[in-house]
Amino acid sequence: TDEIKAEMVDGMAKKHFPLCMRTLHESLQRDNHLKHFGRLQYGLFLKVLGLSVEEAVAFWRKSFSRITDDKFNKEYKYNIRHSYGLEGKRANYPAKSCLQILTGGPSEYGCPYRTFSPENLQAALLSSYSQQGLRSVDLPEIMAAVKSSHFHVACTRVFEITHSADVRKGDGVGGESVTHPNQYAARSIELEK
Ligand code: SF4
Repeated sequence: TDEIKAEMVDGMAKKHFPLCMRTLHESLQRDNHLKHFGRLQYGLFLKVLGLSVEEAVAFWRKSFSRITDDKFNKEYKYNIRHSYGLEGKRANYPAKSCLQILTGGPSEYGCPYRTFSPENLQAALLSSYSQQGLRSVDLPEIMAAVKSSHFHVACTRVFEITHSADVRKGDGVGGESVTHPNQYAARSIELEK
């Protein structure tokens, strides 16, 4: 993957991220904070996307704008380096898949297609994706998939609609349906090239 700079993340989120990661990105920007599991989930996603540890530290430092450098270094920097395998057991932690996001963890960091109420989901879809061509007439089909608990099908359909210049219905994310937030983002970035 190409290197991604801290200041590029915001623009990329609006163009390339699936709804789960946009939701985390937006709450981080709004609150200048994100709780532990959200940080972990979003941080590992950004790592796999191609953010180096230096750029990750810069990104989180800028996002957590309401705390001092001292607090940031003491409470957060270690965890960021840890998730890159540079501290503690030095494990190479993978980013979570849709299945893991759908089935585990506190619901506030889950898959929005599953955790949001139908009203909130439709509002979030329109506000996140209308610039990429998603319209209200597209919602019934997406909501039908959600209603039958086919959350990844709904997510895949959103990908197809928002990349309709290159992708037809049924093409999915490079021939398959969405199984991982990083697969979604990587394919979106690839299509832009
Ligand atoms: Fe994220 Fe996967 Fe849910 Fe899409 S289906 S929003 S990529 S967890």
